[in-house]
Amino acid sequence: MRKIMIVDDSQTIRKLISFILKQKNFLTVEAEDGLDAIEKLSTTPVDLIIVDLNMPNMDGIEFVRTLRNNYYHMDVPIIMLTTTKDEDLRKDALHAGVNLFLNKPINPDVLIYKVEGLIKGV
Ligand SMILES: [Mg+2]
Repeated sequence: MRKIMIVDDSQTIRKLISFILKQKNFLTVEAEDGLDAIEKLSTTPVDLIIVDLNMPNMDGIEFVRTLRNNYYHMDVPIIMLTTTKDEDLRKDALHAGVNLFLNKPINPDVLIYKVEGLIKGV
């Protein structure tokens, strides 16, 4: 089974995304910010990462930059959660190595469509 990491400082959003993915038989692992995610990735390899943009300690863009500079995580697909207000930051996120964006509030069908599309592309 495919394992997906959800990185968000909101427990509500983590639980919501996890719930949607589990209904499609994905395994999930949660992290509360970029630092927590990097620590967990060192022992738990994943097939795809969904990451929030705004988080304390290490935000989404810094997290993606860090991953893309790491040999083991160079190619893992990454979806970033954004709001329509984050337009300027999307360019930075793409440059850092984000594959796709997902707008909040989350639409479950769009989430599954994007996750399955990216995983098939690997
Ligand atoms: Mg946040």
